[in-house]
Amino acid sequence: MKAFFTDEQLLHDPQQFMRLGRICKPTDLPSRAHALRDALALRGIALAEPRDCGRAPLEAVHSADYLDYLETAYALWRELEVPGVEPGIEVLPNLSPYYNGAPGVARAPCPSPSLVARTGYYISDLSCPLGPHTWRSILRSAHTAVAAADAVLESGDAAYALCRPSGHHAHRDRAGGFCYINNSAIAAQRLWERHGRMAVFDVDAHHGDGTQNIFYARGDVLTVSTHADPSGYYPFYTGYAHERGVGAGEGFNLNLPLAHGADNAVFLQAVDQGAAALREFAPKALVLALGFDSYKDDPISVLKLDLDAYRHIGERVGALKLPTVIVQEGGYMVEAIGPALDNFLRGFQAAR
Ligand SMILES: [Zn+2]
Repeated sequence: MKAFFTDEQLLHDPQQFMRLGRICKPTDLPSRAHALRDALALRGIALAEPRDCGRAPLEAVHSADYLDYLETAYALWRELEVPGVEPGIEVLPNLSPYYNGAPGVARAPCPSPSLVARTGYYISDLSCPLGPHTWRSILRSAHTAVAAADAVLESGDAAYALCRPSGHHAHRDRAGGFCYINNSAIAAQRLWERHGRMAVFDVDAHHGDGTQNIFYARGDVLTVSTHADPSGYYPFYTGYAHERGVGAGEGFNLNLPLAHGADNAVFLQAVDQGAAALREFAPKALVLALGFDSYKDDPISVLKLDLDAYRHIGERVGALKLPTVIVQEGGYMVEAIGPALDNFLRGFQAAR
């Protein structure tokens, strides 16, 4: 199996994460990528460097004004001159706009040119600081997804994108939940351009709200997400079973929220349900948004999966026999995510 990653994805090194009114050490550490890289090496899977293909593949799912903001905000932040206040070490919002756009509907660019206004408009929470190297890292993480998608287009089989930073909480024009650029959506859109009928299956512990929103009004991309009940867990505002899509997308979004504390059996039942929906839709190819924060000892987990669960998830997804781009999403227990990926790939490859 081909797999992709570049060391430039390690450059993003967030320093601040505001949680429950406290500035904490962020959980999206560069060491996560090292752990996943080591697990691939043990399986004999070499990592190839993605080609730098610029902004074009990102613009297929993100708005140009949002990408302009992400690309330039840090430099502008350093130049900010506000009497009596020195800007912090990273760009973070100090306001939340009172409108965020309807699901599936593109927002207009931020009406104010102010950097403070745009930061509130484009960054939805306090887990997404922009540091000196964030843009380069997130751009290259997206290129990793593009390279995996291109490999799948060429081989018709499967490829793994070691995306870090992750992407599934990133909306068309909004960062959130450690995510800035939606790598899974970019891979899906790239495959869609060839195949015209795509699905994204998100098995991270969190609802893939950004991916849902990007494809919410489309009937040619099915989005399925299994995740912990969002009524008490990020992203809180979306991820409910009644969200089925709008317009041409009506009926092409499926959310499978699970009670907190759900174990292997409950989670795998939801994976089976998602797989049945995928079979019925019959996509030409699949993007799997793969997260390991459902592991019982993950620092932000509310689910109770053990490491064996990932082998079974791999078997079920592999058995769909679809050309598949596996895109890495969350998973924050550095000691566990390597074995989790190894187990997933073991199951996935055995079922092909
Ligand atoms: Zn997650």
